[in-house]
Amino acid sequence: NTDIKDRENAEEYVNRLYKLVQARNPNEAEFHQAVKEVLDSLVPVLVKNPVYINQAVLDRIVEPERMISFRVPWVDDNGTIQVNRGFRVQFNSAIGPFKGGLRFHPTVNASIIKFLGFEQIFKNSLTGQPIGGGKGGSDFDPKGKSDMEIMRFCQSFMTELSKHIGPDIDVPAGDIGVGAREIGYMFGQYKKLKGAFEAGVLTGKGIGYGGSLGRKEATGYGLVYFVEEMLQSKGLSFNGSTVVVSGSGNVSIYAIEKAMQLGAKVVACSDSSGYIYDRNGINLDTVKRLKETESKRIAEYVNVHPEALYHEGCTGIWSIPCDIALPSATQNELDKIAAERLVSNGVKAVGEGANMPSTQGAVDYFMEHSVLFGPAKAANAGGVAVSALEMAQNSARVAWTKEEVDSKLQAIMKDIYTKSMQAAEEYGMAGNFVAGANIAGFKKVADAMLEQGV
Ligand code: GLU
Repeated sequence: NTDIKDRENAEEYVNRLYKLVQARNPNEAEFHQAVKEVLDSLVPVLVKNPVYINQAVLDRIVEPERMISFRVPWVDDNGTIQVNRGFRVQFNSAIGPFKGGLRFHPTVNASIIKFLGFEQIFKNSLTGQPIGGGKGGSDFDPKGKSDMEIMRFCQSFMTELSKHIGPDIDVPAGDIGVGAREIGYMFGQYKKLKGAFEAGVLTGKGIGYGGSLGRKEATGYGLVYFVEEMLQSKGLSFNGSTVVVSGSGNVSIYAIEKAMQLGAKVVACSDSSGYIYDRNGINLDTVKRLKETESKRIAEYVNVHPEALYHEGCTGIWSIPCDIALPSATQNELDKIAAERLVSNGVKAVGEGANMPSTQGAVDYFMEHSVLFGPAKAANAGGVAVSALEMAQNSARVAWTKEEVDSKLQAIMKDIYTKSMQAAEEYGMAGNFVAGANIAGFKKVADAMLEQGV
């Protein structure tokens, strides 16, 4: 039977490639995890389209076009010289300039940057916008640093990064630890070094100098728009639902805001120290003040709202009963045990606001138990999608209203939902948004690579 033989060939090819990736990138567990998940879901595509094997498209896609690693020296407030590591992976530019955020966090290393950059290829493709995949960052820890230390670090980081980026080359933005303040300092340094106002070199800029209205809210709002599409396909909705959102950064805050606007009750959120549980619904103004304005710990919430509970540690949040869970903190924060808790408490939908927040064991468990599951590449693509809209506005030297941006974001999230759903159906995996997102994201990039030659 040729069908079985084709499938065996495709599986063998994928396994061989995965082993090669492991051998070439030793000790990069997160990168291996992200590659394996994509390769496995592409097997049916390879069976139908052997050209992707013959033309070594996957062999090419798993190898970054370029990986830049650099020294970031800076002087702290005590006059001591500090040295951090900087990275930028320029993973794939088949459909547009490299695009993806910068993460400043002590856990950042080559593995983290490559897993994020790899996922960004498919996410960015899914948005329908002309953006390739990239990612960068540093093991610099912004926690506890003064404003001037942050500025000096950003300036040093950009002094090197500026040699590798540009509005048509590579366009960084924010991620964990990088918000409007950091983007501002980096933009200022880039402008000085180039002697030109190249607005489109970074996204997530301040509104007064080329930023887009609605960018700050885009990842969180987009996440809720995507999950609402999944829910409605089953006759469900955020309206009247109980929601748990992990994290309390930019993604979480605006996911909470949109979920509340749609009539949900959000009962918990967290930071890297612990989580708060407010059974009557958390007060978002307090969370915004603590996190956005005062850079305080979420633990302080209970001082303002004594009826709420604070718990140390991050995994306990998944024991709280809810209809919808939105993991929006960081990678691998939700494991199989957490997935079992959520399912036994009746969770109906999970949407990934962070990148790769669910372990493979958790994803498999959700799928086996028919939980609606929105993978990061689809569900959190709203942020980078609006980054692409920011680039478009910068190129045209125009500024759209918040309403214009939001209606474009809604259309993009709906389109991502439809594309992922249809791709899954086409390959006999109806309802599997993980496979659907990977397949739809992959095909556009793969076909562009074929058309452009080796
Ligand atoms: N860091 C975000 C992400 O993971 C946004 C990237 C961007 O806007 O370029 O997609």
